[in-house]
Amino acid sequence: MYRRINYLAYMAITCYLLSPRGFCSGVTRAINMADQVLKLYNSAYIIEDIIHNKIFMKEIEKRGIIKVSSIDEIPNDSVVMFSAHGVSPEVIAKAEKKRLTIIDGTCPIVKEIQKAVTKASEEGKKIIVIGNRAHPEITALLGYANNEKVFVVSNEMDVDLLPDFTGEEVMYFTQTTLDYYSIQNVIAHLRKKVPHIKSDSEDNICYATKERQRVVKEIANETDLIIVVGSSYSSNSTRLAEIAQEFGVKKVVQIDDKNDLNLKIFDKVQKCAITSGASVPETIINDLKDFLQSNLDILFEEYVIS
Ligand code: SF4
Repeated sequence: MYRRINYLAYMAITCYLLSPRGFCSGVTRAINMADQVLKLYNSAYIIEDIIHNKIFMKEIEKRGIIKVSSIDEIPNDSVVMFSAHGVSPEVIAKAEKKRLTIIDGTCPIVKEIQKAVTKASEEGKKIIVIGNRAHPEITALLGYANNEKVFVVSNEMDVDLLPDFTGEEVMYFTQTTLDYYSIQNVIAHLRKKVPHIKSDSEDNICYATKERQRVVKEIANETDLIIVVGSSYSSNSTRLAEIAQEFGVKKVVQIDDKNDLNLKIFDKVQKCAITSGASVPETIINDLKDFLQSNLDILFEEYVIS
């Protein structure tokens, strides 16, 4: 076999294609909605990337999606599409005031959490959100709670800084794309600090996120390298890379597509695995496979666990 890169002594490599990968249901739904919007209206405004994937967003912006930094910048009577991460009630109110046609791409799972936070807030409960305050899902979610009654924590130190909730009803919720394994300590710490705290479920991490993380954990000790396909600003993709490191994979890379991959990383690698975040199209994985096949002695195997 002709090797374009012949300065490294490659041996045949086994590469596991981890399942599930590719789009999750929420992302598929948002993308289909964006397609429909472009067919119906030719263009639409967004204030947040519809999904966290640089390559997809570049393409969709060429097709007529216009990104602005705030709802205030959108001309009255035009079309706005909200991302899979959702928006706050304040943003919805502004959009309505401007008579915008609203296309709501919010993932139904995120929507359910927004409803639960609204209910808890209306019942006068204090709310603790475990997540990243800067992530659009959390920025939006905070808008559904009374400001004076909501707290955001991302680690055990944040939990230590929470006030005393004695005599008050308290509920916690989590971001949908957290690291399931490392968040267990934060939840345990929170339960210790606030023993009477309640929650609708153990966590709100979505199935798509949890399953990918479980598969990465399972394969971690069988592979020398894990390639995570997904933009660096995609929370669920970055968590996959972190979990691979957390469970001892020696080499972990996170890439947008094949162009980011330096083949030198395959030096001394016998087994590798490819996974992807929930906002990565299968075409990017297929391009990566083709690229690896034309440059390395590599065999692909689907990896599915029950
Ligand atoms: S990662 Fe989960 S919460 Fe986010 S869009 Fe996909 S299914 Fe919905």
